[in-house]
Order: sequence, then C-alpha cells, then structure tokens
Amino acid sequence: MKSRKLLMIPGPIEFESEVMQCMAVPTPSHVDPDFIDLFANSLKLMKEVCKCPSGQAFIVAGTGTLAMDMAAANLIETGDKALVISTGYFGLRFAEILKRYGAEVDVLEAEVGDIVPMELIEQQLQSKSYKLLTFTHVDTSTAVLNDAKSIGDLGRKHKVLTVLDGVCSVAGEEIKQEEWGIDVVLTASQKAIGVPPGLALLVISQNAIQAFEKRTSPVTNYYGDWSNWLPIMKAYENRQASYFGTPAVNLVMALEKSLQLIVKEGLDNRFDRHLRAGKAMRAAISALGLELLSKNEQVSANTLSAPKYPSQIDTTTFLKAVNQEGIILAGGLLPELKNDYFRIGHMGSINRSDLLATIGALETALKKHGYLHELGSGTTQILKHF
Ligand code: PMP
Repeated sequence: MKSRKLLMIPGPIEFESEVMQCMAVPTPSHVDPDFIDLFANSLKLMKEVCKCPSGQAFIVAGTGTLAMDMAAANLIETGDKALVISTGYFGLRFAEILKRYGAEVDVLEAEVGDIVPMELIEQQLQSKSYKLLTFTHVDTSTAVLNDAKSIGDLGRKHKVLTVLDGVCSVAGEEIKQEEWGIDVVLTASQKAIGVPPGLALLVISQNAIQAFEKRTSPVTNYYGDWSNWLPIMKAYENRQASYFGTPAVNLVMALEKSLQLIVKEGLDNRFDRHLRAGKAMRAAISALGLELLSKNEQVSANTLSAPKYPSQIDTTTFLKAVNQEGIILAGGLLPELKNDYFRIGHMGSINRSDLLATIGALETALKKHGYLHELGSGTTQILKHF
C-alpha cells in the first residue's frame, strides 16, 4: 500500500490488526452467552489495567466526554464544591461540565506547559471543604503529565473524591488507582487503550459508589445515571443477560481483544515502552532545535509530545508537508497558542519504526520549509533512545 499513511495524532491512533478484525465479524446479540463472557472479561481487565481490584468498571457507548459527564452527573449535586486542577483544554472542559450539574467550581490553572504545584493544591484544599477534585493525568492540549500519585494522596488526606481524566493516559502512563486513592479513573477507547472511538470507560472506587448512594437528589442526566448502568455491569459480571442501552457490541469485542494484548505485554513493560518512546521523541525534537510546550522532563507526558514551530516556518502549510511524507500529525489545541505548536501522538502499539518514520518525515518537511538542520540528527536520537 504505497499511499498508506501513519496516523500519529494523539487519538485516534493506529490500532492492532487483531483488534480491527473484531470490528469486521458479524455482530452477535448483546445477550449471547459468549458475548456476555467477553463483556465480563473486559470489565475485569479494565480493573486490572487501572490497578483497582475492588473497584467497579463501566463500559458504555460514548466518548471520553461522556465518561467525564458521568463522573460529574453522578457525584455532584447542586451546591457541591468542586476543585478543578487544570493543565489545559480538558481541565477547563471538566469545569464546564461540573457547572452544568450545579457545582460551585474553583479552577487552579497551571502555567502553560507546567503543572500546578502540590503546595498550591494543598492550600486550596485547606481553604474550603470540597466534595470532589478533578485533574487531567495527561492533558492532550499541552502534553503535560500530572503527578497523579501526589494528587491522590492529597485527595485522601483532605477526604475529597478524586477524579482522574485518563483519556490520554490509561494503558500508556502508570496508574495505581487503588494504591494512590483515586476514586474515578475515566478514559475513552481511542487512545492508549487501542480501540476505535466509541466507548466511554470508567473504573470507580467503593468510596465513589458510597458517595453516589448518599445522594439526596436524582441524577439529572438520564443516559449517564449510574442507577441505570450499575445493575447492567453487575449482571454482565455475574454472566447474566440484561439490558439498559444496547452495548456497542463490536467495539466491546475489540476492547476485550486489546485489553488482552495489553496484559499479555505486561503493564510494566508497556509503561516502560511508552516512557522510552516519550524520551526518544523529546530528544529527537530537541536535537532538531525545536522547543517543547511541556516545561521539563518531569512534567512531560509519554503518550504525546507538543513541539513548537520554529519561528521562520509557514505554519499554514507545514503539517500538510509532513502529511505528504506519509505522517499525519495534529495541530495545536489551546486556542490562544493554536498556531504556535503542533502535536505528535506516540501511544498504544507505538514502535521504533513508527518513531523513525515520524521524525524522518518531520526532518524532511522542515528542510523543505527552509529550516536549516543536519538531516538525521533527530532520527539518530530515536535510535539512541529506543
Ligand atoms: N480528556 C482528554 C485528556 C482528552 O484527550 C480527550 C480527547 N482528546 C477528552 C477528555 C475527550 O474525549 P472524547 O474526545 O473522546 O470525548
């Protein structure tokens, strides 16, 4: 396939062919015993990937935004106080969602490319009695990685429900949900989990279930109400047929396949592969003389990178030139810096060839745009680090 291009955006990503094959089989009934088994296994594997053995997993047709919506709709009642720790576009989205359900929201916003210091978060938690805090593990708009363990510790210390938006991190960055005291880990299928778009995924703690059960007002979102979904998830776990909304059957089959591949690789191996890919990408980008939006190695995500355009580059044509070299990249997402940077996804099935092809295309497009650098200086870093 001479015209085949590599999709290197931060989701959707390139999917394993075994996963894609699940999308092409005839759709079984959602109450077929084999499908029920497979659904049960997916729920079990979700808890394994998030390291939350005593949690409750949800698999629902929808996107990552639905998973955020479900967390807010089910845990917030009018007047509840919520703290959003924002490292970019998706933090601010969470604030909007929480407000829809009547929360009084405070936002602690990081400087672009950085995280909010833990001392500031602690000060804020001491200043008011919050019911819930949310943070974005990897913000896809800035390629910033938050310190999930430390935020989980703070949440536990101050008895606040902690929600981790893991849409760009689950199965790519290390998460120990139960050990770190995180009440909700939510994600979507199309990123490091490695399944085409269309599934909203959550794993919630027993603490979150208790908080949900203590509500005094009904959930104002019908589709996302956990009262509708909890019995369905429990029924699948107990190998019983049940129905609330028709599951996205082929996507769930693809999810089970991908989760199997993830645990077969081993979570530690997988996180290490992402770590090395992230380091290699950042080293290559720096060797080409491009700056990164994320401020330093410690706060840099391993699932994507956000390089700034060199000043002399025509940003209206640059990504098209990379595309002509066979690599699809994404533009900037932060509205105020949209034309200052672009984004490269490197998660899921990512391997050395993908990284080499990507940096090779980037180098060629830079050269064609008149940017002076030594050809091969980026790809050398990939070979050195990966
Ligand atoms: N949170 C983060 C960190 C994301 O990257 C995204 C999607 N890019 C979302 C939430 C929203 O997910 P979706 O587009 O699947 O609704």
